Amino acid sequence: MNKTIDLRSDTVTRPSDAMRAAMANAEVGDDVYGDDPTVNRLQLVTAELFGFEAALFAPSGTQSNLIGMMAHCDRGDEYLVGQQAHTYKYEAGGAAVLGSIQPQPLPHQPNGSLALADIAAAIKPDDIHFAKTRLLALENTIGGKVLPRDYLDAATALAHERGMITHLDGARIFNAAVKQGISLRAATAGFDSVSVCLSKGLGAPVGSVLCGSRDMIQRGLRWRKMLGGGLRQAGILAAAGLYALDHNIERLAEDHENAILLATGLADIDKLVVTDPQTNILYADMAEIHCVALAKHLQNRGILASVSPHMRLVTHLDVSRADVALTVSAFKEFFRAAYRH
Ligand SMILES: *Cc1c(COP(=O)(O)O)cnc(C)c1O
Repeated sequence: MNKTIDLRSDTVTRPSDAMRAAMANAEVGDDVYGDDPTVNRLQLVTAELFGFEAALFAPSGTQSNLIGMMAHCDRGDEYLVGQQAHTYKYEAGGAAVLGSIQPQPLPHQPNGSLALADIAAAIKPDDIHFAKTRLLALENTIGGKVLPRDYLDAATALAHERGMITHLDGARIFNAAVKQGISLRAATAGFDSVSVCLSKGLGAPVGSVLCGSRDMIQRGLRWRKMLGGGLRQAGILAAAGLYALDHNIERLAEDHENAILLATGLADIDKLVVTDPQTNILYADMAEIHCVALAKHLQNRGILASVSPHMRLVTHLDVSRADVALTVSAFKEFFRAAYRH
């Protein structure tokens, strides 16, 4: 059996031998006491990379976003967020359930942004009938799309003018910065906090980091403890994150190239409608009738994909150029066979 080609997500990467060696050799301590030197270093390095005063390691991006929102908002506050945003749609309603923070979802523009007019119109007046509109939460990349830097300037300026706080779900901000050829600091300018994932394209097995002001991170520490995210010898995990920051950022450009190769190959198949990927995520639309058989066909060839009428395919550091070629052949073979009479 050949190796599996897993295109379901960039979360599926396995730590490399070198990353595992860094984990095995990590100096550790009890991080709840603030004693883990490797966690402390990861937090310092990440805060510095993104240009924030402080940072906090969290076991997942879901928790890191939630800590961020809870550190910014009080019970009965509200946050403005995209209808398709991870914090709104894919985090089990945590901001509302655990944070008592009401989401006010807004529709996305075709480029993934929230229209400035929609943001402005959603900010509620100071009136006892309304929740207090406290926070604007954006996500970059969103569905693999990179939000334009001038849009982010305008959106964060608008929020600040209206007395709001800004949070960026930057799970894939590394992909955005590499694609735009800008620094990580430039990519997060205008935001009061950012949550970044080490476990997506960067290839670490576990971990996210929340960056913000010293005060905010201090408040976040208590929420992290309450949410069960206070870890002990977490340096073993932080070492993977430090390794990823050192070795796996620039190489994201390869994932972006592979996504384009994959999209170009699949676009030859006239039963598929393929989007042009901006980063490492592409979508292929097809008639529902193909889905079950296609999933089976791919699986028989060691290719894992979330086959659906609106299929997302994700490239990452465990998907090579050769894997992309094999995947394109497998798709072509399927659709040739399906239409041979
Ligand atoms: C993956 C992801 C997260 C966090 O996910 P976890 O699985 O909890 O680490 C948050 N936001 C976005 C946009 C993501 O893709």
